[in-house]
Amino acid sequence: MKLHYSDIPEGGLHIAFRGEEAGWEGLKDFSVEEGPSGDVLVRKRGRNVVIEGKVRATLGFECSRCLERFSYPVEAVVRQVLHPSGEGKVAAREIELNSSDLEEGTYDEEDIPVKGVVVEHLLLSLPMRPLCDEDCKGLCPICGANRNVADCGCHEGTTGSPLDCLKDFVVKAR
Ligand SMILES: [Zn+2]
Ligand SMILES: [Zn+2]
Repeated sequence: MKLHYSDIPEGGLHIAFRGEEAGWEGLKDFSVEEGPSGDVLVRKRGRNVVIEGKVRATLGFECSRCLERFSYPVEAVVRQVLHPSGEGKVAAREIELNSSDLEEGTYDEEDIPVKGVVVEHLLLSLPMRPLCDEDCKGLCPICGANRNVADCGCHEGTTGSPLDCLKDFVVKAR
């Protein structure tokens, strides 16, 4: 559904997201277990459009230490101001809100990208390095076993420098 600038009433327009998956196309670092849900309010501020609300989603990641898949709930506070594309940032002065904590962008009058804004805010809340658990023990660099599941015992009796296991890992990785 395209939202036209003229469709936004003076009092603002509430848009509810109810878990649809669309909007994540082209993003392959994770799977979408539950699409964005939440509510945003779209308002006109002069020629600008302000989108505010709170959304959440559940994504599936691969742990960067143990490579197991896990569910990761994300939540984002959406605060975005869109300036009409083509008119540059001149219109920004019309903003009466304190705009310091608003993300800025542009919109096309025929198609205000509300969903795109929501997805972008969720993406900004994603972890740089996803971990199934802060204390994830990862994979054994020697035998490759998941050390969260069982202690493979590889380090018992090791007397060399801690770097020895790194050397083994490099050889194994090839
Ligand atoms: Zn892990
Ligand atoms: Zn091991």
